[in-house]
Amino acid sequence: EEVKHFKVRRIRKDEDFGVIYEGKIYLCKYKKEEKGKILCEIIGEYETFIPKKEIFLYQCITVDLKTMDLIVRQATELGVSKFIPVISERSFTKMEAIEKRIEKWKKIVKEAMKQSRRPIPMEIYEPVNLTDIIPSCEENIFLDNFSKENLLKDVNLKAESFSVIVGPEGGFSEREVKYLKEKGFKPLFLETYTLRSETASVSICSVILNCNT
Ligand code: SAH
Repeated sequence: EEVKHFKVRRIRKDEDFGVIYEGKIYLCKYKKEEKGKILCEIIGEYETFIPKKEIFLYQCITVDLKTMDLIVRQATELGVSKFIPVISERSFTKMEAIEKRIEKWKKIVKEAMKQSRRPIPMEIYEPVNLTDIIPSCEENIFLDNFSKENLLKDVNLKAESFSVIVGPEGGFSEREVKYLKEKGFKPLFLETYTLRSETASVSICSVILNCNT
């Protein structure tokens, strides 16, 4: 895979390129190809960053799987640690198609890491049912455009770990909202309007990761 990608980029001898390896990013000089391997000389190391906060993004699987691709890409760029696809009443539910798509999401994570100079991958988990999610972080929220009892000011943005659940295009059912509240998840409304699922996910992750006060 990587050798193929390297060739597509048409890098010439002695040209520099970046290599992500075990959580570090190196600046390398291309030397030669030998037995299907790319040999290079390490000439430096990039400074890399790891977010101080951990986000478990529980994303209900959108009916349009292309939307999920976009969320995976953007969550990787932003620095989300774990991505958990969720099956809910109104989500996409065909397991076979989901399993296949997970492979694609892993590829998207790699691409996005290279583009964003992210040294550590966003982990993609196996899908879970909404009713199996438990509040395991310091802050546990679900995004809801109907329950307007909490705004961002009601979330402890100084927490170090967050689980965030985002609904699919059709939102959560009343039953699901009740269940999540009972489990201990806090509903959160993002001002001002109703957002698409992908906008909601990216907005909350960006706010959490950028709020260090
Ligand atoms: N079908 C719904 C919209 C669902 S939007 C309707 O017609 O009202 C999809 C998901 O994005 C929601 O379930 C929620 O998780 C999130 N979302 C969208 N807008 C939001 C907002 N303003 N605040 C919090 N979450 C929001």
